[in-house]
Amino acid sequence: MSNRRRVLKSALPVAALGALTALGDVVNAASGPSPARMPVLFIGHGSPMNAIQDNEFSRFLRGWNARLPRPKAILVVSAHWLTPGATAVGVQVRPKTIHDFGGFPKPLFDMQYPAPGAPELAREAMAVVRRAKVQPTEDWGLDHGSWTVLHHLYPAADIPVFQLSIDYDQAAAFHHAVGRELAALRAKGVLIVGSGNVVHNLRATDRIEGLAATASRPWAQAFDDAVKRALAARDDMGLVNYARLAGDAAATAVATPDHYYPFLYTLGASDAPGEKAVSVFEGFQAGTLSMRCVQFGA
Ligand code: ZN
Repeated sequence: MSNRRRVLKSALPVAALGALTALGDVVNAASGPSPARMPVLFIGHGSPMNAIQDNEFSRFLRGWNARLPRPKAILVVSAHWLTPGATAVGVQVRPKTIHDFGGFPKPLFDMQYPAPGAPELAREAMAVVRRAKVQPTEDWGLDHGSWTVLHHLYPAADIPVFQLSIDYDQAAAFHHAVGRELAALRAKGVLIVGSGNVVHNLRATDRIEGLAATASRPWAQAFDDAVKRALAARDDMGLVNYARLAGDAAATAVATPDHYYPFLYTLGASDAPGEKAVSVFEGFQAGTLSMRCVQFGA
């Protein structure tokens, strides 16, 4: 995260794509079309294999697109970009596709998601976040928390994407607070996407063929249900203080918080308490991965 190189050709892809007309655009004669204010999405991404599998989840992602306004750019907070001690933002013009996993079939390693970056909007993200000094970097790219789901949601890869990292030294309240600051980008046409899983425990995962589809462990289901209830009630502080959300289930359901923290960014970026939070997909993969997906706002 020490890389602080500057991006020179910053404006090109953003300017080129800024001319696209989004659903719900308001035409402003003085400055051109204003982007629609974007909803905020949380996506439970599960296994990287979802990128190449035709299943209930991947089909859901493919259909979700039609219910969303077209963003000017996508900001992803992924469970797979953890930077203890710093918060970083990708300022690449062409972010590379990162295959940050092992033991999966070759077709997964062959996949590319060639979306352009959004360096200008990444710098706007640096400006709106006050809780941390956000560091620009070209060291990362799009990890599998981004591209395995965006490949289904926006298969044309024609919308600029940039990632913000998670300072893994910080506690839950920090991540929620940074999410609140990022909310300002919604009015600029940025779709904020958190990619993780509200229940994620790979050590307890059922690897038995045939059990993977819908079965869930009791503690996993209990925590996932509690998240659903708290979301419906917009008990955001309950969700930030997740350790007490469902008895002692959190200790196992959120064994490590890396996949839960992206959810807190999206929760923060939503306008609590008035904005609706709708669970648009739910269910489990491999017994311990909640595939819950949430849309905040229309
Ligand atoms: Zn993951």
